[in-house]
Amino acid sequence: MFYQVEQAFQQFVDFILPPKCVNCSRAGDLICSACYTKIAWLNPPLCQQCGRSIEEKQTTCPECLTSPSPLKQIRAATQFIEPISQFIHQLKYYNGFAIARPLAQIMVEAWPKWQTEKMIDGIVPIPLYPAREKERGYNQSALLARHFAQSIQQPYLPHLLTRTRYTQPQARLNAHERQNNVVGAFKGVMKGAKLPQHVLLVDDVCTTGATLHEAARALRRLGVPHVSAYCLARAT
Ligand SMILES: [Zn+2]
Ligand SMILES: [Zn+2]
Repeated sequence: MFYQVEQAFQQFVDFILPPKCVNCSRAGDLICSACYTKIAWLNPPLCQQCGRSIEEKQTTCPECLTSPSPLKQIRAATQFIEPISQFIHQLKYYNGFAIARPLAQIMVEAWPKWQTEKMIDGIVPIPLYPAREKERGYNQSALLARHFAQSIQQPYLPHLLTRTRYTQPQARLNAHERQNNVVGAFKGVMKGAKLPQHVLLVDDVCTTGATLHEAARALRRLGVPHVSAYCLARAT
């Protein structure tokens, strides 16, 4: 019901203030067709586990061979380069509510390529620390995850995972610091009698995967047997 009201409201806003591309300002859509055609989709060959680009003859990257992951797999729709990087900047700092829907649609489009053989039965966004969410006014991952879950008709379970402490923004840290920064930052929360069997974590950008790993560990501790992740973009 809430979703229908929101959709009607969005149509009303579009009527009063016709949208323009948040990257190039062309009138018509928040992501114009010219910018859309420049999107760099992520394509194989990828590490079967973490989703990094790999050499043609490999199946798993060296990192995944040496350190086993709590995630079944990580996948992303696009590469984190322009224009997607610009759209994600808008999603995070300016236009979250409006642009989340077309960005989630990009995730929907690439999704059939990445569906695992084990069907997912719950979609969980990476939570922000409550004070940070209050400051920003929204959680960009939650906006993406909600639209994505609605489109692929899977349960949206935002309360299954919480962030228990403040962490530095990962973007300013190196790979080792990123890992330390998020240790113990998440906690799984049992809601209802039945846990999903295969959760899909959703985030806007994946770089080293440290945040996704830590979030997956928290869900596994709660008792979720399988956790995978799907992001809008993958930074290399
Ligand atoms: Zn454009
Ligand atoms: Zn890998």
